[in-house]
Amino acid sequence: MNSAAVLVIGSANLDMVFQCDRIPKPGETILGTGFSTHPGGKGANQAVAIGRLDGRVAFMGCVGSDAFGDSLADSLRQAGVDLKWLSRSPDIPTGTASIVVDSSGMNSIVVAPGANGCVTSERVEAVLSEAAHEVVLCQLEIPLDAVEQASKAATFILNPAPACPLPEGLLARCAVITPNESETAMLTGIDPATNEDCLRAGKSLLDRGVKNVVITRGAQGSYWVSSAGGGRSFPAPFVSAIDTTAAGDAFNGALAVFLAEGRDMANAIALANCVGALSTTKRGAQESMPTLLELKHLAGDLY
Ligand code: ADP
Repeated sequence: MNSAAVLVIGSANLDMVFQCDRIPKPGETILGTGFSTHPGGKGANQAVAIGRLDGRVAFMGCVGSDAFGDSLADSLRQAGVDLKWLSRSPDIPTGTASIVVDSSGMNSIVVAPGANGCVTSERVEAVLSEAAHEVVLCQLEIPLDAVEQASKAATFILNPAPACPLPEGLLARCAVITPNESETAMLTGIDPATNEDCLRAGKSLLDRGVKNVVITRGAQGSYWVSSAGGGRSFPAPFVSAIDTTAAGDAFNGALAVFLAEGRDMANAIALANCVGALSTTKRGAQESMPTLLELKHLAGDLY
């Protein structure tokens, strides 16, 4: 088998969603109105996004030797993700998120990272030395030193989510960084409300060594700032959005695979906007990732 075009190194979590009329107060027990489980974790979501687009993708992460781990592995496998680098911890449970959603859609979330903490820099180093991938894609739900090790790959894309202060050496090794609006504000101190603000925020990250900054802006699309040129806005296609969960994951998976396949940055961003937009037209995270056929239908000549 050819090595995958994209290696996603990141988290896999089982999301447990409790519906209830209102969020319970501290010390209170209430009866919920519904319950469901969903495969999640930003790393696994992004790998599934690529698999659904028929991209060659491998996932490196860690889940527990438990039923949640089995179900996360199944979901990745069904999307066509290569699981050669997925490890199973014998004694630490699969990462889980407990999500309580009230009738107005407000939520309250606790994440127990569990086995995601077992993705160590030593393991990342070993995997990178064994296999060559066009692009390595990371997020920030695994230990930061593992992400720093991953950034030594030839082409490294960082989705800095959830946002945290980043070492300068890590930023300087990013071929592309893809913060959303709140992550941009946290990393730069600039709220990217207008194109001018996006350009300023992007330039401040370029000054710290990043080669390309792609700010995702929800329904407004995205904004690209590069060391080679200035800034450019990419409007998202209009869709009837019903659930924006994991739109950023859809966008990041798509951007990584289209760059790995040799498309230029502008085309890859335009297509990633389409994939992000399509993901908002269905409910859920991994369940909402569009297929290649759906993308071709929306993207037309862009593809
Ligand atoms: P995150 O989920 O990380 O907060 P965004 O909300 O910025 O990320 O969404 C990522 C991308 O998904 C956007 O850049 C855009 O391409 C697409 N997107 C998100 N929401 C919408 C929407 N309502 N309509 C069209 N495209 C959307």
